[in-house]
Amino acid sequence: MEPAIIRKQFVEVFGFEKYKQFVLTLYEAFPVRDRLFFWQEQMLKNLSEHFNIRPITYEEVYLIFNQCPLHNAELKRDIVPIVDGNNCQDMKFTEIDNSSFPLSNVIAPRDLERFNYPEELEVYYCHDCRKTQMDKIVEE
Ligand SMILES: [Zn+2]
Repeated sequence: MEPAIIRKQFVEVFGFEKYKQFVLTLYEAFPVRDRLFFWQEQMLKNLSEHFNIRPITYEEVYLIFNQCPLHNAELKRDIVPIVDGNNCQDMKFTEIDNSSFPLSNVIAPRDLERFNYPEELEVYYCHDCRKTQMDKIVEE
């Protein structure tokens, strides 16, 4: 089944808010988690049962749901610096409400539970989210 059709059906079955939550959770960790949450697996299981399609694997999830739920734009990859939030410029990026550009990812917050963190890493981002964020920063 086509990724676009699977996404459309996901929205039909669970609603847009759940779809948004599902997708944003996929990309909220830096780097992305190497497995899905149980509730995400359950949603995919329900979806495949509902439409009688074979189960969607972890690898396929990132190929199918690689779109910004707000802008319907395909996510791209970029290398960005990891920040602690001590730097003023970085604070400006992290403090403003990001609900209108959830997949901007111009920087990656440091995961304090992780050791040997690199200085930068690869993230997924939405071009339209980045543009929205830059417009907001200019406005302020
Ligand atoms: Zn976006």
